[in-house]
Amino acid sequence: MSKISFLKEEKHVLVDNFSRTISYLRLSLTDRCNLRCIYCMPEGDGEDGCQTKNGKNFHCHDLLSYEELLRIVRLSVSLGMNKLRLTGGEPLVRKGILEFIDRLSEIDGLDEVRLTTNGVLLHEYAQSLYDSGIRQLNISLDSLRPERFAKITGKDLFNQVWQGIQTARDLGFRIKINVVAMKGINDDEFCDFVELALNEPYSVRFIEFMPVGEKSSWQREQFIRAEDIRQMVAGFGEFTPYQKGKFDGPARMFRLQAPDGRQGNIGFISPISHHFCDQCNRLRLTSEGKLRSCLLNDQETDIKMLIRQGISDVDLTRVIKDTVLDKPKGHGLQERMESGGPMNCPGQMSRIGG
Ligand code: SAM
Ligand code: SF4
Repeated sequence: MSKISFLKEEKHVLVDNFSRTISYLRLSLTDRCNLRCIYCMPEGDGEDGCQTKNGKNFHCHDLLSYEELLRIVRLSVSLGMNKLRLTGGEPLVRKGILEFIDRLSEIDGLDEVRLTTNGVLLHEYAQSLYDSGIRQLNISLDSLRPERFAKITGKDLFNQVWQGIQTARDLGFRIKINVVAMKGINDDEFCDFVELALNEPYSVRFIEFMPVGEKSSWQREQFIRAEDIRQMVAGFGEFTPYQKGKFDGPARMFRLQAPDGRQGNIGFISPISHHFCDQCNRLRLTSEGKLRSCLLNDQETDIKMLIRQGISDVDLTRVIKDTVLDKPKGHGLQERMESGGPMNCPGQMSRIGG
């Protein structure tokens, strides 16, 4: 039985200037990571992967403490947010995460807590995560080939990740595998990932490669539109769009029926070619405490500074509301892509949390 409490009463709703209801908070618990994905945190930046926009390490004191995070979550929930995602960097490398999840589960009105992980520590943490009430995991996996996995992530840890995924599966987690689609890097494996979705109880979601971070390996030639990926795997059978759960994200999801009777769930996340800004329901908190209303727009509010200066709950609530009201209408990357304009977004994925 999940420890995450379910809301029974009517509650507040947070609406931005473009009539979008903001109900989903993403917390980047740390910018540290035990991998070095080429598109996120390339090798050579900060020995322990703990870095600022300038490539310098964050000190632990620079991160929001769990107490500070709990306060922000409580206030956000009181405003109407009811879904939380823990991300990073790699959230499982932050000490005390299990106790933190336990305390989150006591927050009345928080309907769902989910986790995005690279899976490296999953074999170790899966049981405890399950015990703390987490039921769904998003796991990033861009290759099913150990050597290629090592090239993409900088670490030869495919087998450990695979073992973690299987442990989580056996415990009964709902698992979504997220694949960043990169032409010339893993596009020859898209069919293998579809096979995986047909053979295992995992939803596989292909994500368009985003140009985030000054040091990201992103190149225009490596970009593949979600629609093109769909064409590449169309031969597997019949793709029927299906209604997602109320806590599910912006992926366009399909039920795939193969001619041999196998079925699987396949999704496409197209932040660039088919952006979902008009349905965006998210607010993000970066690892060093900046509230950010758009993944691809660097506008941020320094909540940590305000908290450490002694801001009251009333004023902090107002700051959260103001950040929501300032949420930009969209990021405009699709237009820049089509016109051949500059694409790079300066933020660092590991501090923003994806
Ligand atoms: N370390 C965890 C992980 O990798 O799952 C959580 C943090 S990671 C920043 C969150 C998500 O962002 C991952 O699914 C990752 O693949 C995705 N991501 C990071 N950089 C990306 C990029 N440039 N384009 C598309 N997705 C990206
Ligand atoms: Fe680490 Fe996740 Fe970034 Fe890869 S995508 S470097 S696993 S934070």
